[in-house]
Amino acid sequence: MTLQEKAKAYANTIQSRYDDEDLDTINLYHECSRAYLDGAKEALAEKPMNRKLRLVVTDRCHNSCPMCCNNRFDLSALPIVEHWNYDEIMLTGGEPMLFSNKIYNLLCALRDQSQYLQSEPKLYLYTALPKMGPLYDFIDILDLLDGVVVTPHTKKDAEDFKFANAKILSLKDRFAHKSLRLNIFPEAKPYLEGIDLSMWQIKEMQWIKDCPVPEGEDLRRINNLFR
Ligand code: SF4
Repeated sequence: MTLQEKAKAYANTIQSRYDDEDLDTINLYHECSRAYLDGAKEALAEKPMNRKLRLVVTDRCHNSCPMCCNNRFDLSALPIVEHWNYDEIMLTGGEPMLFSNKIYNLLCALRDQSQYLQSEPKLYLYTALPKMGPLYDFIDILDLLDGVVVTPHTKKDAEDFKFANAKILSLKDRFAHKSLRLNIFPEAKPYLEGIDLSMWQIKEMQWIKDCPVPEGEDLRRINNLFR
């Protein structure tokens, strides 16, 4: 079976499997399959492609950091993702965790299509707000990820991080194999002192003026940004 045939079969499967789900979920699954069809075409054409994708899922954020890279970009003007044929997919924003349900569904869709099509990109999430939500909290979402990069910017972010960290520490074995990275900017440092960060790979950060996309990475957005 060719990649295209596999992708078509997958699209039919999800159509029947998720008929009862809410519209957002169905749209996300369809978006994944549609994007994979395009990706399959490109793969068949053996076009060289970047292997890492930064995928913007929302332009909303609870913070308004003056040096935020997004102040320089119109995120809604980014090109739409065309395929999922990457080694790594990094979900970013804005703040993805403002839409934890949609993130959970999107990760399920990506994991699901990966298993079906035997293309298994590693999945990462960039967040300032490891929030414990009522339906799908950070811990549920972390289960679906290969890793997370948390960058608290405010006291509130740091408080959410502390809560999530305590839960991760209480479930050490479950998360020992995940890539857990904590970026610390000077403004957040005082709020993170005195806590056990033994599960985290820590990087001290400084704001940089320009925000170039690293070589070898695509920067794209999903079709309908979460809002
Ligand atoms: S938390 Fe991140 S995305 Fe939000 S404003 Fe600050 S730097 Fe930008």
